[in-house]
Amino acid sequence: MASPVPSLGQLVSDAICLFKKNFGDEAPKIAACAPGRVNLIGEHTDYNQGYVLPMALSLVTVVVGSASSGQEATIVTASEEADEPRKVDLTLPVEGFPLSPGLPHWANYVKGVMDHYRACPLPGFRAVVVSSVPLGSGLSSSASLEVAFYTFLQQLRPDDGDNLSKAIACQQAEHTHAGVPCGIMDQLVSVLGMEGHALLIDCRSLESIPVPLTDAGLVFLITNSNVKHSLASSEYALRRAQCEKAASILRKPSLRDATMNDLEAQESRAQLDDVTYRRACHVIGEICRTLKAAESLKRGAYQEFGKLMVESHNSLRDLYEVSCKDLDDLVCAAMEVEGVFGSRMTGGGFGGCTITLLKDHAIDRTIQNIQERYSGTPTFYVATPSEGARALKLS
Ligand code: ADP
Ligand code: MG
Repeated sequence: MASPVPSLGQLVSDAICLFKKNFGDEAPKIAACAPGRVNLIGEHTDYNQGYVLPMALSLVTVVVGSASSGQEATIVTASEEADEPRKVDLTLPVEGFPLSPGLPHWANYVKGVMDHYRACPLPGFRAVVVSSVPLGSGLSSSASLEVAFYTFLQQLRPDDGDNLSKAIACQQAEHTHAGVPCGIMDQLVSVLGMEGHALLIDCRSLESIPVPLTDAGLVFLITNSNVKHSLASSEYALRRAQCEKAASILRKPSLRDATMNDLEAQESRAQLDDVTYRRACHVIGEICRTLKAAESLKRGAYQEFGKLMVESHNSLRDLYEVSCKDLDDLVCAAMEVEGVFGSRMTGGGFGGCTITLLKDHAIDRTIQNIQERYSGTPTFYVATPSEGARALKLS
């Protein structure tokens, strides 16, 4: 069975309880939420200015709180997966005196958002964070925390409301305070997500085109391997550097501007070492696949979409080398089941989740086959394409 997803109402009411427990009996006055996401195809393309095709999920992070007097912010997270202490007091950032990253690690995401918030000065406040997005599983709990927190700050002191700048500020927060040189996909889809749609995002222009996912007979199933290898963050930064190296050898501003012909040209082949060549080959191929996949989804050509998913997985495994045995096993187990169109690892890799496209009647058999074949303990979510970040009314 797929894991039940707690309703937004339930999360808000949990957050209100925790607020009262921490800050006396007064109820919080403002609230905001932002979703996690799953990427259907277009992996490791965002920081190469290519295309991605994610959807926002019904798994969300909720922030509730109130303004307070004084120059301090106190923030509590309910997440038991976050490092301790789970309650932090922060001085408010003032110009020239940003908040420096430190411990606990989870608070760096919040500090980063406060530092990059686009309207200052912030008033003092107290806030509680509650989330249904599993932490560190590739469903972007980090972006959902940043974007939910930013949306919360917008209720405290409004900025100009520009959504793209908001996503960029949250991405900056992750770069400068969490030390993760991520692309723009996670924050952008968490801000812009649309119910019933995936978004084809051009990570160069930041334009996004909604792709309807309204076929009732179809399901996108997320399988969480529940493993995360410690390699993930160092290898991510290394892949970014390898892509920059490849683009510079090909004399292109980014791999978005390169074609397979550029890559295969004699002069390029002479200068590219085998590893850099394979990294570039994945990115250039994946950008093409993502555009084709969005087209096939629009036409309802699910076989074609599924085939592209598997090609994407194989490329991430063999050329980009960011998969691992757990993810490969999950994909194989899903592909054995009749009614499954395609399956691939999703997110940065080295653990985390796979995403599988299948006919809805095949869901129980697929889950069962994965449980039988996979040596770990997977959890499953039906991916419901959902709305992006928003303020919530507290009654
Ligand atoms: P992912 O974004 O795929 O879930 P990351 O490694 O990018 O994985 O981000 C996970 C980190 O983000 C956590 O280890 C924690 O520091 C922080 N985080 C995310 N959500 C929360 C939350 N609700 N409360 C506290 N910290 C969180
Ligand atoms: Mg993340």
